[in-house]
Amino acid sequence: MSFAIGLICRECGETYPSEARYSCDFCFGPLEVRYDLEAAKGVVTRASIEAGPLSMWRYGALLPDPGDAPVDMGAGWTPLRRATRLGEVLGVRELWLKDDTRNPTGSFKDRVVSCALSSARRLGFTTAACASTGNLATSVAAHAAFIGWPSVTIIPSDLERSKIAMTAIFGGTVLGVEGNYDDVNRLCVELVAEHPDWAFANVNLRPYYAEGSKTLAFEIAEQLGWRPPRQVVVPIASGSQFTKIAKGFHQLFELGLIEGDAPVLFGAQATGCSPIATAFADGADVVTPQRPNTIARSLAIGNPADGPYVLDEVRAGGGDIGSVSDNEILECISLLATTEGVFAETAGGVTIASLRQMIRRGSINPDESIVAIISGHGLKTLDVIADTATVTATISPSLASAEDALRVHQLVAAS
Ligand SMILES: *Cc1c(COP(=O)(O)O)cnc(C)c1O
Ligand SMILES: [Zn+2]
Repeated sequence: MSFAIGLICRECGETYPSEARYSCDFCFGPLEVRYDLEAAKGVVTRASIEAGPLSMWRYGALLPDPGDAPVDMGAGWTPLRRATRLGEVLGVRELWLKDDTRNPTGSFKDRVVSCALSSARRLGFTTAACASTGNLATSVAAHAAFIGWPSVTIIPSDLERSKIAMTAIFGGTVLGVEGNYDDVNRLCVELVAEHPDWAFANVNLRPYYAEGSKTLAFEIAEQLGWRPPRQVVVPIASGSQFTKIAKGFHQLFELGLIEGDAPVLFGAQATGCSPIATAFADGADVVTPQRPNTIARSLAIGNPADGPYVLDEVRAGGGDIGSVSDNEILECISLLATTEGVFAETAGGVTIASLRQMIRRGSINPDESIVAIISGHGLKTLDVIADTATVTATISPSLASAEDALRVHQLVAAS
């Protein structure tokens, strides 16, 4: 049973029922799902959650009502890994990786799509759609196939080949737009007006979609033994994940499921698309849009919808936002892989490189616990590493040839 009781305007506080609506009639502000946490107190307990399924739906009481049953391909309940070796390199005492590469389609987007399409089905929609930087399209197409719905996913046409293939394989309609994500998003807002019967996960279903990201906070706290970490590093595209991780922790505190200080949230952006990091560094209240140019395509949103809310949260919590170059991203994809055996896409490189940067400038405390969100699998961005991550040597199939190559690479002693 869900304790969601409708929608509320994030700007003026006007309330609405749980219907297909995403902006406020009065002030055009964005809406979000609200809950009756008073009623949930004592009903939603550690024990009631622990008795739930091994997916994000173990937190169904704190998610939008999915109707008869959620659209659940098994998103969530991903490993929280203690990263001792990476922690040593970075000089961090207690480092954890939230390994969201382990979702059904290899990214954290399965959480938000499971949530959005569950609400969409409850509300009577029968077609799934989205504006995407890649991972969302893959997840929407997969979940639509899973429930037998048609899908229309709209992406920049020059995305990584792996992401296009991973979306097209599910058989929906994939439109590649000659433009960047911000062009795609603008187009989708127009399409919503023409096709109000399509469930655009991150446009007209956005309030429901966004709630899925709270499960990252819920899982991190539960997996740490119902203890909040001190610091969390979150990659930022639109900023939705960031703000909802904050909301997730707040709800756990309010329900008395965790105690202590709220974690400080830190953001991570690529310098080639870092409008929120720039606004934060400049002390600005408005986020000035930027034309993206970075290998971190999944984070390449130049005009981020949740930008001002991220700024509020970072400032209120005493956090910071990293901004890292493409070279640092590549270096940290490799650092993560070689120290922890975890292969992340470019967004994971952004998170680890930003973590390192913020430790160096003293905003992240390496003596307190840190969780880094690894939000997508490396197979999604194979293009960027394929030239450097290759065979050590090419040899003929003879023992001598193998031994020669091994000697060159100092794996056997020189004779
Ligand atoms: C979409 C995405 C994010 C964050 O997206 P928000 O729009 O900020 O919620 C982070 N990492 C990956 C890999 C993504 O695909
Ligand atoms: Zn309003």
